[in-house]
Amino acid sequence: MADTLADRWHAIQRDVEVACLDVGRSPAEVTTIVVTKFHPAELVRELYELGVRNVGENRHQEASAKSAELSDLDVTWHFVGQLQSNKARAVAAYCDVIHSVDRTSLVDALAKYEGNVDVFLEVNLTDVPGRGGVEPEDLVKLAEHVLAAGNLRLRGIMAVAPQDEEPARAFERVVSYQSGVQAIAPAATDLSLGMSGDFREAIAVGATHLRIGTAITGKRPPAT
Ligand SMILES: *Cc1c(COP(=O)(O)O)cnc(C)c1O
Repeated sequence: MADTLADRWHAIQRDVEVACLDVGRSPAEVTTIVVTKFHPAELVRELYELGVRNVGENRHQEASAKSAELSDLDVTWHFVGQLQSNKARAVAAYCDVIHSVDRTSLVDALAKYEGNVDVFLEVNLTDVPGRGGVEPEDLVKLAEHVLAAGNLRLRGIMAVAPQDEEPARAFERVVSYQSGVQAIAPAATDLSLGMSGDFREAIAVGATHLRIGTAITGKRPPAT
């Protein structure tokens, strides 16, 4: 039974490795981001001591406070939540990678940041418009907008599997969107797919970045 943070982290590392080898991939191609939203900075420090170097957050205020408190750690911060344009520059200042770029107004706001930022385009896999994520038919247009910004490095596509669809099928759809994006951005080869419940399916389709929360951190404390 895995019941300490260290046990869970090591168990997930092993599961990720096995899932990679099962489909003939090298585990070195896959980055596991530990999503620590709602958990205190102290938990991130514990994870760091276990060797975690990629941390994900989804709320600006919380992420900003934690990254400031942990500025002595050499951590890559990933922003995975919905992002308001008026907070974009502030998030870019402490986050290395933003996974949730889903509209041109947000790209315009990030373009005003005076440094470089890595970004993923989040695509909406649900039937509900505005659920977070650009509609698949607008993905290439959004990629063009990112390239025009100059300071944004387009890494690839990010998505969350819908509740009512097999994750494997949903992730296959994301893979089918890659060629359109890569036609204009050949370097945008990364895929940010897979959470606690579906990271194996994500690895099978080629995910390069897993965003795993509860399977490692345990249950999240209630939002404050
Ligand atoms: C919270 C969150 C995760 C992690 O979810 P778990 O099910 O706890 O692994 C991954 N991606 C996004 C966008 C999230 O908001």
